[in-house]
Amino acid sequence: MRVLHTSLECYPLAKVGGLGDVVGSLPKYLTALDCTTDVIIPFYNNDKINQLSCEDVYSGTLNLGSDNYDFTIKKTISKAFGFQVYLVHQEELLYRSDVYSYDDDTERFVAFQLAVLDWLLVADVQPDIIHCHDHHTGLIPFLVSQVNKYQSLRDIPTILTIHNAQYQGQFGYDKLEYIPQFDLHNIGLLDWDHCINPLAAGIKSAWRVTTVSPAYMKELQHQANGLEGLLSHENPKCVGILNGIDHDTWDPKTDPMVIKNYEAKNIVSGRKANKEWLCQEFNLDINKPLFAFIGRLVYEKGADLLPEIVSEALQHLDANILLLGSGDPVVESRLQELKERFPNSYNAYIGYDEKLSHIIYAGADFLLMPSRVEPCGLNQLYALRYGLIPIVRRIGGLKDTVIDISDHGFGICHDQVNVQDVYNSIKRGVELYNNQKQYREIQKEIVKIDHSWNNSAKQYIELYKSLKQLK
Ligand code: ADP
Repeated sequence: MRVLHTSLECYPLAKVGGLGDVVGSLPKYLTALDCTTDVIIPFYNNDKINQLSCEDVYSGTLNLGSDNYDFTIKKTISKAFGFQVYLVHQEELLYRSDVYSYDDDTERFVAFQLAVLDWLLVADVQPDIIHCHDHHTGLIPFLVSQVNKYQSLRDIPTILTIHNAQYQGQFGYDKLEYIPQFDLHNIGLLDWDHCINPLAAGIKSAWRVTTVSPAYMKELQHQANGLEGLLSHENPKCVGILNGIDHDTWDPKTDPMVIKNYEAKNIVSGRKANKEWLCQEFNLDINKPLFAFIGRLVYEKGADLLPEIVSEALQHLDANILLLGSGDPVVESRLQELKERFPNSYNAYIGYDEKLSHIIYAGADFLLMPSRVEPCGLNQLYALRYGLIPIVRRIGGLKDTVIDISDHGFGICHDQVNVQDVYNSIKRGVELYNNQKQYREIQKEIVKIDHSWNNSAKQYIELYKSLKQLK
C-alpha cells in the first residue's frame, strides 16, 4: 500500500497549526504499519526547507489560464522524517516565506495541485491512494475524476480530510480558466453558492471524506459555514477519525525545547523548573496557579473573549495567566494593553514561537481552550501528555477527548462560550490547584493516557484498504 498525502503544511518544514502537526506525524505512524507514505508540500522560502538536500525528480510547466509557470518536483534525500517528503518548487507562486494569507492564494493553491498531478502523470511509482488535506488540496479529487488530462489517474481513490470547514477557499468563475479542460456538464461539482468552492468540490468528488474527530463530524451537519446541507447529504461517505499526536516529538522526557526534561517519576520537580523559567521570563508569581492559552487569536478559538476573561479572573482570583498567540489585531492590542493593568500576574507573547509553546506545556498548570469551534484540537492532547490540566469548552474534538473531573475524568469542562463559564472553570481550577493532593493524582493519571497515532493510524489503514478493494 502506498499513500500520497498532499498538504500545505508538514511539521517541521512548515507549520501554522494543527494541520502541520498531523501531516508531520500521521505518515510516520502509517509507515511504521507498513503503509509506504509520501508527503508533498510546497517548497517554501524558510530556513528549514532551504537547508534540505534534495534531488529534482520532475520539471514541468503548468498553466493558469494563459499564464505559464515552470516548476520542479524535489525529493528530499534525508530519511529523518520517517517518510518520504516531496516539494513543489515554483519560484513566483510557492517560494514564499509564509504558508497563507497572500492576495494570490487561489493561484498558489491551484498551481500546487496542478503541479502535483502533472508530476503524478509520469511519476515512476503511483500511489494507491491520494489523501488530500483541507480546501487547499480539495480540488484534487475533482481534477483526478473529471479533468481530461488526468484521465489516467482516475482509478486512484481520493480521500479528503477536513481539518477545518470554516475555511473553504472560494473563488469566482472568472478563474474557471485555471481548471484544465473537463466536461462542463459536471461543473456543478465545483460549485457551492455560485462560487467555485474547493472544499465543497473535494467533499463531492472524493471517494471518502474524513474529519479529525467523530464529534466534529456530527457537528458539521448542523454547523459547517454554509456546507451543512452538503455534509448531511454526503454523510454516508464521511467518517470522523480522531487525530493523534507524535509521541516522539511531544515527549517531556526527551523534548529538546523544554527547560528541564522530566518523566512520571520526577514530574513535579521537572515541571517546577519549567514553571520557574516561565515565571521569571514573564514576571509572574511562581506560587500562584498558571493558566495558559496557546493558539490562533481568532473568533473560532474564543480569543475575542480572552481580554475580558483575563480581567475578570485576575480581579477576583489568585492566579497567573500567560497567553501565546497571534491573529486578530484588535484582540492582540487589547491583550497587550492588559499587561499594564496586571503586571505581576498576566503576560502575553504575541507571535508564533514553537519553543515557547513547548515550555508552556511543560510548565503551566492549566491550559485554557474556550473554543467556539474545535475540529479536534491538539493542544489539549499535548497538555495531557505533559501533565497540565485542560480547561475546555465541550465542543468537537474537545468533547471526544476531555472528561470533567466531576464525571470521574481529568479535565475541567464548560458548555458555553462566554466569560462567566470560562471564569467559573478557572475558579474550579484554582480550587483544584489548592488541593495539591488531588491535583497531583490527576496529573499522574493524565500523563499515562495514550493519544499517540497508534490507534487512529490503524483506522486510516482500514479506510485505505477498503478503498483499494473498490478500485
Ligand atoms: P489549529 O486550529 O490552530 O490548527 P490545533 O489545536 O489543531 O489548532 O493545533 C494548534 C497547534 O499549533 C499546536 O501544536 C499548538 O501548540 C500550535 N500553536 C498555535 N499557536 C501557536 C503559537 N502562537 N506559537 C507556537 N505554537 C502555536
